[in-house]
Amino acid sequence: MPIVHDWLARRASLAPERTALIDSLRGDRRISWREWNASANRTARLLHDVLGVRRGDRVAVLAMNCTEFLDLLFACGKLGAILQPLNWRLSSPELASLLSDAEPVVLVHGPDFQSQVEAVRPQARSVRHFVHLEESSARKPQDIPFSHRESLADSALPPVDVEPEDPWVLCYTGGSTGIPKAAILTHRSITANAANTVVSWGLTADDTALLNAPLFHTGGLNVFTTPLVYVGGTTVVARAFAIDQVFDLVHRGAISLFFGVPTMFIEMQRHPRFDSVDFSRLKLLVSGGAPCPQPVFERFFARGIDFKTGYGLTEAGPNNFWLPSGDVRRKPGAVGVPLFHVEARLDGDGEEGELLLRGPHLCAGYWRRPEETAKTFAGGWLHTGDLARRDAEGCFSIVGRSKDLIISGGENIYPSEVENVLAAHPQVAEVCVIGVPDPKWGEVPRALVVARPGADLTEAQVLEFCQGRLARYKQPRSVRFLDALQRTSAGKVDRRSLTASHGTPG
Ligand code: AMP
Repeated sequence: MPIVHDWLARRASLAPERTALIDSLRGDRRISWREWNASANRTARLLHDVLGVRRGDRVAVLAMNCTEFLDLLFACGKLGAILQPLNWRLSSPELASLLSDAEPVVLVHGPDFQSQVEAVRPQARSVRHFVHLEESSARKPQDIPFSHRESLADSALPPVDVEPEDPWVLCYTGGSTGIPKAAILTHRSITANAANTVVSWGLTADDTALLNAPLFHTGGLNVFTTPLVYVGGTTVVARAFAIDQVFDLVHRGAISLFFGVPTMFIEMQRHPRFDSVDFSRLKLLVSGGAPCPQPVFERFFARGIDFKTGYGLTEAGPNNFWLPSGDVRRKPGAVGVPLFHVEARLDGDGEEGELLLRGPHLCAGYWRRPEETAKTFAGGWLHTGDLARRDAEGCFSIVGRSKDLIISGGENIYPSEVENVLAAHPQVAEVCVIGVPDPKWGEVPRALVVARPGADLTEAQVLEFCQGRLARYKQPRSVRFLDALQRTSAGKVDRRSLTASHGTPG
């Protein structure tokens, strides 16, 4: 597959005046491919000529969704530089650890994150330049405002020799060891995901998608955003999920594609506007990132909406299967048949097993983690850690998880990460974190704590200890004190049994 690394230049040459972006943060301003390419060229000049970014350098970004974020993504693509999008829900210590992992030379941040940036500044030794997306009084004299790009030429830089295997984005995912790790998304893997989606899902240049899933996650970045650039469709850029905006756009027929995580759909079908919104002009409505409760699907079906499940993960991109119309009704949990360039199989000979994936869309492994890469990609197949079943027609369903993962509102929580934080509490002897079902978030974390002998520890103290050390979504919502943690015969904490006995809501 030949790789075009400068997607915007190619699009701008094919259809310069068609609308590429609609900026809902600036009164729905329309941006053509020509204008977007010019913006990305200026951004590339800022990175390259002013800030000294070169091929292979990392550029971190901490910002809500905005068109500048997309400019940075494609400017990095033009330069062969690597974008490191940071989850803005992370606490300062968590952000500092990601910065020391990727060692970016530039950190671009939005106005909402000034205090986090100040907190990590002393530890962010690799960062040569802090760039403010908006002018702020907190800007240090040596910091560069992003607006500086307006003074630069919008012509392309001399071409850079970018190879298909060059990393383009470092997308972080929790680590089973408790340390987040980055999936290396290359020009090849992002291109293959886009091609798969366009071909298999039937996207065209006439499609318009609302981008409101966060761009730091593969869901915001790669469900529709990169595929639509690939095919020449339009993206409505939104800061984050806002239910009225979604309903307005759907009702007006202003978008044909919408992706969200189950928590968004749970909220939508409970909303008083749900019954009066006209969904008929939506071509694709996709829920992904976590299992969506069947009753939520039923509410959409009752309105005659063909609501589909998407399945993916950071390492494989978000789009791996395609569900023919109506199948989800017959098969709860069904994700469908593999996309055009995706190979899927189950580990072992049974009807149920770990889902393994192979194809050009897979990431190139984990950044600076050769051992974890070798383990997860053993034999050339991605071991997803998800349990699946395949029926006689070749349709896959996700039936469970073999990995220790809690998914809350579409965000992943690795229990060991929370356990590592709580284990540092002087009065905690042992801790195990489990997922508890929750009607809105899917699951929420609960800490099972064994206190040290003689300790006088309360639930409030345990919860307070997590504040500032962990992103809010990772903080346990409840605590149970136990005398001891149940263990398996091999002596490991028996998370499964503990979940069975202490995982009921309430
Ligand atoms: P992430 O790497 O954040 O995209 O998370 C990927 C994980 O989310 C997968 O390994 C699954 O455990 C879960 N997941 C994603 N989509 C689905 C789905 N449609 N049904 C069930 N679980 C899902």
